Amino acid sequence: RNRVFSGAQPTGSMHLGNYLGAFRNWVRLQEDYECIYCVVDLHAITVWQEPAVLIQQTREAAAAYIACGVDPQKSILFNQSRVAAHAELAWIFNCVARIGWLNRMTQFKDKAGKNREKASVGLYVYPDLMAADILAYKATHVPVGEDQKQHLELTRDIALKFNNDFGREVFPIVEPIIQKEGARVMSLRDGAKKMSKSDPSDASRLNLTDDADRIALKIRKAKTDPLPLPEDAAGLADRPEASNLVGIYAALADLSQADVLARHGGKEFAPFKKDLADLAVARLAPISNEMSRLMRDPAEIDAVLDKGAEKAAALARPVMEEVRAVVGLLGAR
Ligand code: ATP
Ligand code: MG
Repeated sequence: RNRVFSGAQPTGSMHLGNYLGAFRNWVRLQEDYECIYCVVDLHAITVWQEPAVLIQQTREAAAAYIACGVDPQKSILFNQSRVAAHAELAWIFNCVARIGWLNRMTQFKDKAGKNREKASVGLYVYPDLMAADILAYKATHVPVGEDQKQHLELTRDIALKFNNDFGREVFPIVEPIIQKEGARVMSLRDGAKKMSKSDPSDASRLNLTDDADRIALKIRKAKTDPLPLPEDAAGLADRPEASNLVGIYAALADLSQADVLARHGGKEFAPFKKDLADLAVARLAPISNEMSRLMRDPAEIDAVLDKGAEKAAALARPVMEEVRAVVGLLGAR
């Protein structure tokens, strides 16, 4: 059976972009694939995390997965640092990937900012760890948002080079799964930037934990241009903020952008935003309620993660035995 791996970083509040670009898709995939969903805490520490906060956010991320519909009975749910294979395979991949490949990664450039010399080495080799996350389980399919496409290409390059260098078909060449609506949700404050947990402005995103009033306020204040909504999708070109709001509406209502504009085209933003806020509240409130219920019993979340880590480690064990033997690390059977 085909195997899916995906994850999100416990770097802050999970948001609408994570939901539309990732979690919603993860839930659907549980029906047809063997799924492994990971809270990637080792990725999170590529930038500074306050230790006590990281622990809380790791639990909250797991709660978000479950609240969105990830079922720990059907899928494996755990946090990355509990399975040592991720870090071990990442080291081996550091020795397979080339510096030139990593130099092309745009996320590093975005996250490191101007002062690249001060970025952690971990942030630089992040894509190697991501390749290890996926390939330690020989996953065949990876659902991600548009922003992770380049990293997934690198995973494919690493698998190809490893197989080629050692002359053995050890790793599969993974396929991305990127659905159309919601693949790239942009910041509410800047239509050129993606919505992110790590954006310092809380007003830039709809958190899955926001209550109805906050959601309505953030949408009301979302940046727009002065024109009314266009009559058709072609009219969204060069209007990033309008595109984003129409795109969010479409994804939440399970409509195409053309359908949304057939209903709302020509309107001013104010009434459209009111409708959008109602829709967002209707979709997100059940998730936020379930998250707060789960967070009241951290021991239960920890127990789910313990079980998941055991199952994940059991899947990774034979893969790592094979990798050590192929690479020539003494002691491997
Ligand atoms: P950070 O700012 O810490 O990188 P993030 O908001 O980018 O956080 P990640 O944990 O890096 O979230 O990503 C988790 C998943 O959510 C990935 O599959 C990613 O593609 C998806 N995702 C993140 N942001 C968006 C977005 N704005 N639109 C669509 N999908 C997104
Ligand atoms: Mg990210």
